[in-house]
Amino acid sequence: MCSFESKLFSTACSPGEGSDPVATNGLFPWQEQNWQRMLQLRQAGRLPHAILLYGMPGTGIRPFAQVLARALMCSAGGEFACGDCHACSLNAAGTHPDLVQLEPEKEGGQIKVDQVRELVAFGHASAQMGGYRVVILGPAEAMNANAANSLLKTLEEPGEQTLLMLLSYAPATVLPTIRSRCQSLAMTAPTAEQGRSWLEQQLSNPGALTTLHQFAPRQPLYGLRLEPMVDDMQRLAQTLPALIEGEADVLQVVKTWAPIDLAMLLTWLYQWLSAACLIGSRGGEEDAAAVSIHRAWVARAPLSRLLSVLDEIVVMRRQLAAGSNPNRELLLENLVLRLASAGSIA
Ligand SMILES: [Zn+2]
Repeated sequence: MCSFESKLFSTACSPGEGSDPVATNGLFPWQEQNWQRMLQLRQAGRLPHAILLYGMPGTGIRPFAQVLARALMCSAGGEFACGDCHACSLNAAGTHPDLVQLEPEKEGGQIKVDQVRELVAFGHASAQMGGYRVVILGPAEAMNANAANSLLKTLEEPGEQTLLMLLSYAPATVLPTIRSRCQSLAMTAPTAEQGRSWLEQQLSNPGALTTLHQFAPRQPLYGLRLEPMVDDMQRLAQTLPALIEGEADVLQVVKTWAPIDLAMLLTWLYQWLSAACLIGSRGGEEDAAAVSIHRAWVARAPLSRLLSVLDEIVVMRRQLAAGSNPNRELLLENLVLRLASAGSIA
């Protein structure tokens, strides 16, 4: 399993964004309002010591934090980093001593107490370059209890001109003691149309657009990362409608899905079913980002049945993540049968 797959698999429905900024011009078009809010705080001298940036994965939250960090550390003091000063050169080389980025050592793993302890020491030392000191830590929910407790110390006694940015894709699961010490900023996700338009400009294979957008309508960075897997996604997208309509040959579907990485297959089904359940639970309210697959599921299956299949997929993913080595053919057959029966009119 490639590292990206393992990350997707282990973070449930939280496809990550990686630490590399994908944005070419700094901010993404849908982040303008968030940026203006931060700019107002900076200009008013009211930037907090700790801020929790939260929102949907795959929408550019980490790149946003990186753009802000670079702007704060730049000697020119403009809205954005100038790109020319010494601080900007160090940041471009990834060697600025006053910027620390913490994430799980293993993709999808935990942020451990030892990592956070280094941070506590960093927070109490003075800035080596005489400007802002910035920490970007995420996902905040990946901190284990010890790490979170250790971080509390830093949050209580922040050093001067220090900004701690915590990133979260599941803020409800971040410890309340951490949350309450941070100012929160809800990061805007793109509309489905913005997501499609951005994705269209980035893809090297234009033929992949429809499928990738269908899988991640409002998470275009996630969609972009899935581009190398588009053939597998198309296999799934082409067979699913007939399966939901109860018109598919189960064995044929098993054969079509056989080459797809099992972890990815379960991840995609989990995401699609979750989205369908969400739409179903809103009582049929129209969702602009919903695609025909979601609607078809909601139209044919009662919510309780969809939720029960979703539960089974969660169990399968857990077992696979725990290193179990299931009989692949049997598991696929069981999965396809369950999906077929979810949509059948009993
Ligand atoms: Zn600069």
